[in-house]
Amino acid sequence: MDTKYIEVDKNVDNLNTYPQIIDAAKRLKQNEVVAFPTETVYGLGGNAKSDDAVRKIFEAKGRPSDNPLIIHISELEQIHEFVDAVPEKARTLMKTFWPGPLTIIFQKKEGVLSEIATAGLSTVAIRMPEHPVALALIQASGLPIAAPSANRSGRPSPTTAEHVWEDLNGRVSAIVDAGPTGIGVESTVLDCTGELPQILRPGGVTKEQIEAEIGIVKVDPALTNQEEAPKSPGMKYTHYAPDAPLFLVKGGREYIQQLISDKKNEGFRVGVLTTEENRAYYTSDFVQVCGRRSQLETVASGLYDALRSFNKADVEIIFSEVFENKGVGVAIMNRLLKAAGHKVITEA
Ligand code: AMP
Ligand code: MG
Repeated sequence: MDTKYIEVDKNVDNLNTYPQIIDAAKRLKQNEVVAFPTETVYGLGGNAKSDDAVRKIFEAKGRPSDNPLIIHISELEQIHEFVDAVPEKARTLMKTFWPGPLTIIFQKKEGVLSEIATAGLSTVAIRMPEHPVALALIQASGLPIAAPSANRSGRPSPTTAEHVWEDLNGRVSAIVDAGPTGIGVESTVLDCTGELPQILRPGGVTKEQIEAEIGIVKVDPALTNQEEAPKSPGMKYTHYAPDAPLFLVKGGREYIQQLISDKKNEGFRVGVLTTEENRAYYTSDFVQVCGRRSQLETVASGLYDALRSFNKADVEIIFSEVFENKGVGVAIMNRLLKAAGHKVITEA
């Protein structure tokens, strides 16, 4: 398949009437799949009502069919087409965080959306993205858009159109490029079908922010205990892994440098994932800086690009610093632990 590369300036007015957006929207209406930017990561969108379109999303990504997709909308009222009852707490959160990086799980209205999109579940995950291009595209298509991250399954999610191109060129109808995404980690997934809402995936909206609005929420125990089965189907899959083995190191800079030096002496090409504050302390074959640890948002924003960079640098082993498990640091550590296959080295 010929993949059309469509560049869009996200700052122009009336984006939804812009020829490039109309072109992309037309492809969605024809049940083709189109990659587009959101404020979290690039998504791979398709008509959420069409089995045909949704099947193409799963095929292009190589995504397991038991992993449901998030349905993206551009206006609050759209929700009533897919959901019978909006719980009070969900309503409060929608008012505060939509558009934005919060996905909410509802009981689904039957017979409206593709069963393949929701993996046959009785629930549906919905979010309204904040990116002007995403909103314009959904609006111009007039459709609910099912969209997972626009990467090949298992790879780090894409935060630039180049990442999407690396993974999906020739496999999708078009890629809409509007520059790098901002937040850099995916949306928070919050299940609002139970008595007490429960975080199934940490992401762009923090637990602290949610609790400030609706009081205490639960966190899926599987997020902190590997013995538990995750409640979100997607959370059981390995994800984000660079080609070389990645080890997270709980320890000081001297300890990390010692690990690097030992491996170099054994003849390995060693990569290290660090931050602005610590970059000067390491001597290694490849030093990848990912934001400032004093501003965790900058780490989130650069994380997937940093993980991807190790493949290009052809390293054979990677050591990474760890981050504070607070605020967006919870999402960062969740993704890093997955990328590392939970391999953690702790300084004695
Ligand atoms: P992705 O869009 O690839 O970042 O993944 C979306 C995440 O939302 C995956 O972890 C899915 O398993 C999860 N998800 C989507 N729909 C549901 C649902 N109805 N119940 C629980 N998790 C869901
Ligand atoms: Mg994904």
